[in-house]
Amino acid sequence: MISDVHGNEEALRAVLQDIKLRKIKDILFLGDAVGYGANPNECVKLLKNNCEEIIAGNHDYAILGLTDVSNFNDYARAAVEWTSSVMGKTSLSFLKSLPLVKILEKEDILLVHSTPKEPGNWNYILSRWDAEVNFHHFEQKICLIGHSHQSSIIEYSIHGEMITRRHTARIEETKRYIINAGSVGQSRDGDPRACYAIIKDEKVELIRVKYDISTTQKKMLDAGLPLPLIERLERGA
Ligand code: ZN
Repeated sequence: MISDVHGNEEALRAVLQDIKLRKIKDILFLGDAVGYGANPNECVKLLKNNCEEIIAGNHDYAILGLTDVSNFNDYARAAVEWTSSVMGKTSLSFLKSLPLVKILEKEDILLVHSTPKEPGNWNYILSRWDAEVNFHHFEQKICLIGHSHQSSIIEYSIHGEMITRRHTARIEETKRYIINAGSVGQSRDGDPRACYAIIKDEKVELIRVKYDISTTQKKMLDAGLPLPLIERLERGA
C-alpha cells in the first residue's frame, strides 16, 4: 500500500515502477494525493489508474473545502491554495468521490488516513498510547494508515503486549496490526527516499525507493511553491 503522495509525480512513478517489478497487483492508496507538490492532477490520474482502493486524506479534503485549514501551517496552507488554483474538474470530482474509511472484508483490513477512532479529526498515531487507544476502535486484524509520514508496524498481541517494528514483521494469527505506510512524496523520517509497504505471504515489509528529487524540486520552484517545502525533500525531514 502507498500513502501521502502529495503531488510528487517523480516519487509516485518510481514507487509504481518498483511495485510493477515485484509483480504486485493490488495497490491500496491511503490518502493525501495532493498538497505540497507541483503535479496534483498527474498524481490523481496515476492513482486512479493504478490503485485498487483509494481513500481521502486531510489535504484532499482541504482542496475540496471539506476541512478547516486553520490548523495547517503557513506553508501547507499556501500549498493548498496553489493546488486549488491548478486542480482540474476531473481530478476534483474524483477526490470528491473518495471515502474516508474503507473495509476490505475478505482481507480483514481497515483503510483510514489518520485514525480508526476519529477518521475525520485528523489526529496522529505517534505513540504507544495513541496506538493502544486506536486498537480498541477497529475490529479488523489489520489497520492501514498514513498521515504522519513516518512508517512503522505496530503489533498488538491478545495479551495486550505491543511491539513497534521499523522494517518488517510476520503477520501472526494471534496478533493485530496498525501499519503506517510512510509517505511516497514527502518523507519525514530522516530518509529522503519514497516509502511504501507490502503485505505478502503473511509478511509485511516497508520499502524505500530512490527517485529524482532534483526534478521534483525544480518543478516546485517553477510553480512558486514555498521554499521550505522544496528544501525538506532532500533531507526527508
Ligand atoms: Zn500527508
